[in-house]
Amino acid sequence: MFRPEIERMRGYQPGEQPRGTKVVKLNTNENPYPASPKVAEAVAAAVPSLRRYPDPHATAFRMRAADVLSQQSDAITPDWILCGNGSDDILTIVTRTFVGEGQVVRYATPSYVLYQTLAEIQGAAQEIVPYESDWSLGFEFTAPDERLRLAYLANPNSPSGVCLAPGEVAAIADMLPCPLLVDEAYADFADTNCLDLVRSNERVMVSRTLSKSYALAGLRFGYLVAQPQVIEQLGKVKDSYNCDALSIAAATAAIDDQAWLEENVNRVRAGRERLMGGLEGLGFAVTPSQANFVWVTHPRVGHDQLYLSLKERGVLVRYLSYPNWGDGLRITVGDDAQIDTLLAMLGEMV
Ligand SMILES: *Cc1c(COP(=O)(O)O)cnc(C)c1O
Repeated sequence: MFRPEIERMRGYQPGEQPRGTKVVKLNTNENPYPASPKVAEAVAAAVPSLRRYPDPHATAFRMRAADVLSQQSDAITPDWILCGNGSDDILTIVTRTFVGEGQVVRYATPSYVLYQTLAEIQGAAQEIVPYESDWSLGFEFTAPDERLRLAYLANPNSPSGVCLAPGEVAAIADMLPCPLLVDEAYADFADTNCLDLVRSNERVMVSRTLSKSYALAGLRFGYLVAQPQVIEQLGKVKDSYNCDALSIAAATAAIDDQAWLEENVNRVRAGRERLMGGLEGLGFAVTPSQANFVWVTHPRVGHDQLYLSLKERGVLVRYLSYPNWGDGLRITVGDDAQIDTLLAMLGEMV
């Protein structure tokens, strides 16, 4: 009784979410620090109105976000923004809007595995382009294909943490024969972002999330920036009330607190440099990261073995293995104590 596409697929496998508190959790790129205190106040203030349906367009958030983004780019107005139940919801909406059964999506590998899941649900074919050994993208990524409807690009990428320069992404978008979704889940931790490209090319969309840099993974709130005529079409596809009243209130307070964001991002970036230095000192090959995690391989010790030994000792990192490519560990930047614990344990293991 199921659609064959659904029976065939494996389904997205999220990183482990243990419920104990003892675990040092460095496997799903959560922020190690608590969110802005203004978030809790905003949630409490929103509780009395839960009797009512939420604003289907999350207008309060879009107005604040438009102000904040206008300081980083040319003027952006609320009609350039679409909100979602996490940026995963945004990715779903974009995929459903552009890609029909039997059409084609393109993405690079290794990257965010959800792109594959979304394509499978749509019954779309996938063109999976391997990154070059220096994490750049070859001509294959922009090659013509009549059935191609959407390309995804995580930038900074996960698991590598590598960020392509906006000029490179602009060139990719210009050559691609289809819309490009630039998944900027980690852009707040990077030196550059692609927000400006949205204005010059209507086929560029940029997605962001409050899960990582705003320390609100449990909230589920993300958004998309695209030209208003694109947002209008996407709005027809989203669930009418895809963001609830508590998350809209919380997300609005969070994005309003840019002083908190700046301080947090600086702490995480300082932790990232220390973690990278420590891992290099232990003989790991560390990919230079623009995100809140690092991708490492070790020339001698098996990565699955390291993952399991760490897990036995209460430290969770992400072991990732990609077909025809290889494996490694993706380690989230924790707080100082977590970084010390991890480095000490790895020091004994390698
Ligand atoms: C974490 C992540 C997301 C999803 O974020 P949510 O807003 O929590 O759904 C999207 N893309 C990439 C590459 C991510 O790592």
